[in-house]
Amino acid sequence: MEFCGGHTVSIARYGIRQLLPPTIKMLSGPGCPVCVTANADLDKAIALASFPDVIITTFGDMIKVPASRSSLQQVKAQGGDIRIVYSTQDALEIARDNPGRPVVFIGIGFETTAPTVAASILQAEQQGIDNYYVLSQHKLCPPVIKALLDSGEVKLDGIVCPGHVSAVIGSHPYDFIPRDYGIACVVSGFEPLDILLCVDMLVAQIENGKPEVEIAYRRGVRPEGNRVALELLYKVFEVCDGNWRGIGVVPGSGLKLRKEYESYDAGHVFRIEPGEPVEPKGCICGDILRGVKTPLDCRLFKAACDPEHPVGPCMVSAEGSCAACYQYGEGYGG
Ligand code: SF4
Repeated sequence: MEFCGGHTVSIARYGIRQLLPPTIKMLSGPGCPVCVTANADLDKAIALASFPDVIITTFGDMIKVPASRSSLQQVKAQGGDIRIVYSTQDALEIARDNPGRPVVFIGIGFETTAPTVAASILQAEQQGIDNYYVLSQHKLCPPVIKALLDSGEVKLDGIVCPGHVSAVIGSHPYDFIPRDYGIACVVSGFEPLDILLCVDMLVAQIENGKPEVEIAYRRGVRPEGNRVALELLYKVFEVCDGNWRGIGVVPGSGLKLRKEYESYDAGHVFRIEPGEPVEPKGCICGDILRGVKTPLDCRLFKAACDPEHPVGPCMVSAEGSCAACYQYGEGYGG
């Protein structure tokens, strides 16, 4: 199972499933940051948009995701000030240009993006920008791997550890997987040869009966990770519970702003009342994110749900399993 949306796309794009022998089955896990964001959290972003003068800034994919009763795109069509940004620097600039208005950045993503969001908060502090806020919905990867393994719902022999997340956290945080669960782990890059090398190394570990954590992406990942990025991340954020679509609340799998930075925390500053979350009818994104179903198991796939009219986030996001399966072909039979 891979735990990275970038791997999900590469595996589909390069037809890796179709290349492998029938004895190897590749599953996709909860690796797409947009997809794993629970409706309850999306609803908070939408509720924030209705505060007077608030400007919501977010990455492109988030805007189209249908939440419980609306999407950011619909709110924008109704007059909400929702702006797509390509980085936190863009969001900071909007805050600088609109001193009288609260500017909220919707912080999603894993250990990869959290350091840049942390840097933006420190920058806002240094530059005295007091109308910039972050709604943190960041997630941590190793705790969700543990949660999936503990659930026993899927039986895994090997894990394709994420490439970009591991560039930040290193390979040591996965040490518990071979030690406690006896499961092979290899950190992979994103080119087709990287993934084939990773699968080959996983198979060798399994055949030798010696599970361990190896890196097949040496040009991007060091065992100790990126200390500068980690220091930045944990200067601003601290670990909290995270709410994952289809999985629920996983202890210690989220990031919230430390108390010293709570004046930048949209969840702290604004009284957000999003209402009860509702899941899209017929959508099985949650099951897909746990690896117990594939897009082909969804009766809405290519029928009521396609990239133009997505029902769930896995069809919206460029890194979602349903979008990858739609664009690059099915290949889930192996
Ligand atoms: Fe949800 Fe659409 Fe994927 Fe079905 S095909 S699981 S409705 S996103």
